[in-house]
Amino acid sequence: MGSLHVELPQLMSEITRRDFINGTLVVAGGSMLPLHAAVGAAMATLDSSYYPPALTGLRGNHPGSNEHAHSRAWTGRADWGPTTRLPEAYDLVVVGGGLSGLAAAYFFQQKHGKDKKVLVLDNHDDFGGHAKRNEHTINGNTRITYGGSQTLVEPNRASKVVLDLLGDIGVDLDRFKTAYDTGFFEKHDLGSVTYFNKKVFGEDKVVQHPYCNYPNYVEGLQGAKLSNEEAARQAPLSQRGREQLLRVLNGGLHTLKVSGDDLAAYINTHSYFDYLKDTLGVDDPGVLRMARHSGLDWASTGTDLMSIGEAKSCGALGFEPVAVYDEESPYVHHFPDGNAGIARALVKKLIPSVAEGDSAEELVLARFDYGELDKPSHAARVRLNSTVVNVEHAGDPGDSSEVLVSYIQDNKSYRVSAKGVVMACYNMIIPHIVPSLPREQAAALKLQGKSPMQYTTVGLRNWRAMKELGIGLAMSPGNMHQAVLMDFPVTMGGYEYTKSPDDPCVIQMISCPYGDTVGAPRLDQFRQARYRMLALPFENYEREVRSHLSGMLPGEMFDFDRDVASISVNRWAHGYTTGGPGDSTRIGRQPFGRVVIANADSAPGADAKTAVMMGHRAINELG
Ligand SMILES: Cc1cc2nc3c(=O)[nH]c(=O)nc-3n(C[C@H](O)[C@H](O)[C@H](O)COP(=O)(O)OP(=O)(O)OC[C@H]3O[C@@H](n4cnc5c(N)ncnc54)[C@H](O)[C@@H]3O)c2cc1C
Repeated sequence: MGSLHVELPQLMSEITRRDFINGTLVVAGGSMLPLHAAVGAAMATLDSSYYPPALTGLRGNHPGSNEHAHSRAWTGRADWGPTTRLPEAYDLVVVGGGLSGLAAAYFFQQKHGKDKKVLVLDNHDDFGGHAKRNEHTINGNTRITYGGSQTLVEPNRASKVVLDLLGDIGVDLDRFKTAYDTGFFEKHDLGSVTYFNKKVFGEDKVVQHPYCNYPNYVEGLQGAKLSNEEAARQAPLSQRGREQLLRVLNGGLHTLKVSGDDLAAYINTHSYFDYLKDTLGVDDPGVLRMARHSGLDWASTGTDLMSIGEAKSCGALGFEPVAVYDEESPYVHHFPDGNAGIARALVKKLIPSVAEGDSAEELVLARFDYGELDKPSHAARVRLNSTVVNVEHAGDPGDSSEVLVSYIQDNKSYRVSAKGVVMACYNMIIPHIVPSLPREQAAALKLQGKSPMQYTTVGLRNWRAMKELGIGLAMSPGNMHQAVLMDFPVTMGGYEYTKSPDDPCVIQMISCPYGDTVGAPRLDQFRQARYRMLALPFENYEREVRSHLSGMLPGEMFDFDRDVASISVNRWAHGYTTGGPGDSTRIGRQPFGRVVIANADSAPGADAKTAVMMGHRAINELG
């Protein structure tokens, strides 16, 4: 990007899949241990001290979670040493303990009886899939936040199946209307700003304008405090860059020589970046950089791959703010730990002895007893740190009544049997795990795309510096994390959101990593960004957070070593599902004997309601 400096992630751009196989990732993982309270390696049985939400360091796809699946998928590894055939026979095995898999286990027991034996296997050290809880304990004060999936989006549009499930596991949707403090941001005068960093833009500067629509989804957040003219004037760009920025901010659709229906067709078929360059004459690398990051995760790509229409509908640089959610479905259905609150309530329903509490709200502060997850005495069991590497019918898939499921735990291979299996894992890995799938189905599943994402949560001892600059959400186009925001102001179940800037809080730093080459194909960009993200050691992330916060916040009020208590880098190598082309998703999710396919990928849709519905469909297909 012209004169822009190479930033930290780009230094890692040469990392390839081969580096993973050769051990780069393992080395990287090992080096983050100082800030990462060890989880006790992969544990065969979990005792009551095992509590992954409180771990910091590299989370999400933590070291140790992906390696077996990757060596299966990338090198076709099939020899895992001697396999122990466990004396465990289940009515159902679920591969993947995200919302879809947990919901499938729930629906199965609803349909066939609570005594039915169900095993959920997941490769991570915690359940929930993307719906993960992070806890930061700061000066003895535990702050709860989300490490992935944030919010139950538009529950008023949920199906009866989803609403009934939510009701049954104790989620009271009306409660969020008061639990979420929409007045919080106004009370503290926290708004949408942009942080320009010195490395990329020549000076560290916060301007009271987001230059895009992204912050609009945060209910109650204050908007821009400056006019477009003033915001362009204050941007640390060259004079020419400022003129171009103002031109973009003032909009240029009217200058296109098309109107009416032709305009609609035009904007949906023409590239946003071409429009910026050719119609608005933008060539300043800083303005293009701001534009590329202005959509963040709205469309699962950088704006370089968007049409003008897509960029307009997500409110990218140069388009008026768009209404994100209507009044009937505000973006407030948020537990303090995001959708992990739903995952926990589902696990509690499956295994009642895992925690005290009769409703999802009562579970907010409950410390789950992970030692209860996988007990032979329970009908439903959740087994963590277990990567499934092979699923095959005991006989002909057409009439077999038994499926054998092999998984790796603590580098040892185990096998259990089941009358049916739900594959609730990422759909693109299924062909590698179920090798006898029909060829057309396997090919369709491999076409699925998933964007990498990263949510870094940072425990602050106080947020006086954020308040001083009025930062509710800071767009940060020059940084790895393109947005930094105060956590959602939710108080419920005995948990209180931070009340005063003098108190500890958690901030979120969101990164939607892209490939280095502007305009490169989407899946190539995903792949490049994914490898880079997984290969970086924790130290690099910490350095990035340090330079980001230290550059953004006033030095007299913020000292990284003094004020940052903890960092959790939640890496999601396979984040939002983007589906495959044409009919591939429908072809891919067909039942195969006693093996059925769930996960939000199988819709496709990156949404909790969809994940639940796919679990429901899969159970119905099993009969
Ligand atoms: C950062 C982020 C933020 C999001 N925010 C929201 C939001 O605010 N609201 C919303 O509705 N949706 C959100 N989503 C979308 C989210 O994907 C869905 O809502 C939903 O949580 C998906 O659930 P799932 O069970 O289908 O998949 P996942 O959550 O991906 O669960 C699948 C599980 O299967 C495991 N698995 C994979 N392979 C294997 C194997 N071989 N063996 C064992 N286990 C395996 C995976 O590791 C994972 O734990 C977000 C997603 C991300 C990544």
